[in-house]
Amino acid sequence: MASEVRYSGQPASPGLAIGVVVVSDRIAAMARDVGSPDEEIAALKAAVASAAAAIGDLITRVEDTNPEGAAILEFQFAMLEDDALIEPAIARIANGSAADVAFAEVMDEMAADYEASGDDYFAARASDLRDLKERVVRALSGDDEDVLELPDNGVLIADDLTPSAFLSIQWRNGQAIALSTGSPTAHVAILARARDIPMAVGLGPIKAADGETAILDGEAGTLTLDPDAQTARRSRDRLAEQSRQSAADANQLAEPAITADGEPVEVHINIAGPAELDEIDPTICDGVGLVRTEFLFSNRDGLPDEDEQAAAYERILIWAKGKPVTIRTLDAGGDKPIAGYTLDGEGNPFLGLRGIRLSLARHAVFETQLRALVRAAPVGSLRIMVPMVSIPDEMTTVNRLVDGLVSDEGSRPAVGMMVEVPSAALTLERFTTDFVSIGSNDLTQYVMAASRDSSDVAALQDAADPAVLKLIAMTVDAAKRMGIPVSLCGDAAADPRVLPALLATGLRSISVVPSAVGRVKRIIRSWSAAQFRTEA
Ligand code: PEP
Ligand code: MG
Repeated sequence: MASEVRYSGQPASPGLAIGVVVVSDRIAAMARDVGSPDEEIAALKAAVASAAAAIGDLITRVEDTNPEGAAILEFQFAMLEDDALIEPAIARIANGSAADVAFAEVMDEMAADYEASGDDYFAARASDLRDLKERVVRALSGDDEDVLELPDNGVLIADDLTPSAFLSIQWRNGQAIALSTGSPTAHVAILARARDIPMAVGLGPIKAADGETAILDGEAGTLTLDPDAQTARRSRDRLAEQSRQSAADANQLAEPAITADGEPVEVHINIAGPAELDEIDPTICDGVGLVRTEFLFSNRDGLPDEDEQAAAYERILIWAKGKPVTIRTLDAGGDKPIAGYTLDGEGNPFLGLRGIRLSLARHAVFETQLRALVRAAPVGSLRIMVPMVSIPDEMTTVNRLVDGLVSDEGSRPAVGMMVEVPSAALTLERFTTDFVSIGSNDLTQYVMAASRDSSDVAALQDAADPAVLKLIAMTVDAAKRMGIPVSLCGDAAADPRVLPALLATGLRSISVVPSAVGRVKRIIRSWSAAQFRTEA
């Protein structure tokens, strides 16, 4: 008989999922810490040796019963024993690559060459090379099992999940995430919301076994294991209602966002990179309100060069077909570390060298990004946005750097700032900026002194707190006085509980994850200033 157990935490990404438990202690290990080049080379050699030993064991086990299989493995074993195999990867590590990235790239290139050789024997060996790649990369992560594949209705249970571990999983609708720790405003929660994967965090230690039935309620922030018949029936009913609501929201996508009393509200989208746009019709939004470029920089070999960045930015501008695209300069640091770029071991990374502070301290990286942005600008309507601005000097410096890169005033993209540090919200008129976008995620954490990655203080991370709303209203008023556009790109804009209060501050432009566009349009269309005053 089922004995239902319920864990309560915080909602991090809305939606309900009924599925099966997949416990993962291995997720955290998938995001490896990258060492010095010497350490990475030693790690690669050790991983190759351990992969060779594992294959050697397998050959011994199968050679009598499966001689063909053993022959395939012998080919792989011989490759791993050959020192020449890892030489190109070692050269890349010496140039700053992580061991897993360097080895994977070299093996992919080699497999592609084998496939293109026109020789059947070599073409057939390409899949062996890919197999070897997976095995060595897993060994580098201290993981010698298969890479985690969630079943269609898998509810992933883990202690915590880094943004890069999230991005390394191929998510599908119907799956969900339950974390023992974590916080609703951490970046992994933002990624889950963007991908429409229900998620609850701060659930505390979870006792679960693979295959158990699980209900993850991303609205209530709960996880129920082994639900009894009544809970299961109620959840199935809610799931059906959720599908009806999503279908109704999908119908709102093409509608204009106009309040019930006739005021238009701009709805833009937040993205992490151009690939996300493949499935999105540009007519559903007024533009791209936030591109989090730090995700172009993570999970890869070294930092992207100017050409690669310019190509990514141009792809977004082409997609937008002339609508404004706001690309934020690198906002690394805090809970978005980039190996080899951000500082390790800061006492309080959210108050440390993060965002524009780090960009100004790493001039070469920042200038490369600005150059790529200025190069892409003529392709569409580009706006450059600066994160974590605290003092006017930071904007003065960025404006000067951009001026130095443009040939004439006509080709200069607008340069604006995020308002996410209280000093900027309190004194916006001191700053030289073409536009502002309010980052309510960070603004809330700094106003409430409640770290966005801590589940213990999640209740304090409330963008609807009067103190946060007051600073948002001040920013909207100041921007109007300055005659510059103001928008809000933090997650509060997609929160049905907070959006009415944001509209009441006079805000008429927001930017939300693409999956929330239908929902926010529905809320905007039913909102009116008069009604809000009555209800408030
Ligand atoms: C914010 O802080 O609200 C924001 C949009 O930036 P990020 O979440 O990427 O820090
Ligand atoms: Mg922010």
